[in-house]
Amino acid sequence: MSARIVVLGGGGFLGSHLCDHLLGRGDAVVCVDDFSTGRRANVAHLDDHPGFALVEADVSRGIPVDGPVSAVCNLASPASPPDYLALPLETLAVGSEGTRHGLELARRHDARFLLASTSEVYGDPEVHPQSEGYWGNVNPVGPRSVYDEAKRFAEALTMAHHRRRGTDVVIARIFNTYGPRLRPDDGRVVSNFLLQALRGEPLTVYGDGSQTRSLCYVEDEVRGLVALLDSDLTGPVNIGSPDEYTVLQLARTVIELLGSSSVVEHRPLPTDDPTRRRPDITRARRELGWEPTTSLADGLARTATHLAGSAGLPDVP
Ligand code: UDP
Repeated sequence: MSARIVVLGGGGFLGSHLCDHLLGRGDAVVCVDDFSTGRRANVAHLDDHPGFALVEADVSRGIPVDGPVSAVCNLASPASPPDYLALPLETLAVGSEGTRHGLELARRHDARFLLASTSEVYGDPEVHPQSEGYWGNVNPVGPRSVYDEAKRFAEALTMAHHRRRGTDVVIARIFNTYGPRLRPDDGRVVSNFLLQALRGEPLTVYGDGSQTRSLCYVEDEVRGLVALLDSDLTGPVNIGSPDEYTVLQLARTVIELLGSSSVVEHRPLPTDDPTRRRPDITRARRELGWEPTTSLADGLARTATHLAGSAGLPDVP
């Protein structure tokens, strides 16, 4: 029998690319999403695919999926800071109850469970780059804690299920990812800068722009997640790009790449914004033979073309 994989949050940016990849290699996919931050349009092209099923549900309340299940991938959560700050209680609920429901579904079917965790478990890191052995520096009562602590709880719950019930689990720690299907109003740095540059508006750099992020193109990210799903690792494993840029460097790269007339404008730095972030991917390289291969210029160009289309702007030159 071929695999039937349940993707929680399959209507989101990353989840929908994972659905595409799994269907592309011949797996059946059940996408579960409540479309609170995901979009129906992200999976509309899969409606007629014989291996694809869509279940519209809030996984923090339960996962109404019948039939065989060979793996559960939990990508259900708001992930952009403006989204999780606007949905604080929902973010905590999906990280805790949603993860519990996903683990129970996997356990019932003797299926593998993949948790999409995050570099945010490292908080504002005092260790650089971040390897999986670092325990993190998270403000437990700050505004970002709704996401960070939900994911940290989700990791703890996943490991408790594994130790207590023998559930087959793996934890991926995902770093900043970008690519087609980022929502124009997503609010994350890549979509904001690209849209602002395309419109000739100022690029909004928060703070002095010296904070760093390491950006992974979505196809590379999904390839890493699938390698992890197919492995027998438990993790956690960092799946992210080690290519680190300051936010100001990213702004200048975007302006140059698009030949934009935009200027940089500084705005206040959000509370607890991490000062630097870069994964140590030694473990992923060694255990999975995985590393990202898409250059920033290529990835940004493809993302710009898609964003221009979804925001109704003229084609990228
Ligand atoms: N950022 C920025 N301008 C924007 C959006 C984000 O300077 O319009 C900065 C933000 O302060 C952070 C980095 O870019 O330092 C990445 O932010 P994002 O929201 O993409 O994700 P995060 O890594 O903070 O979860």
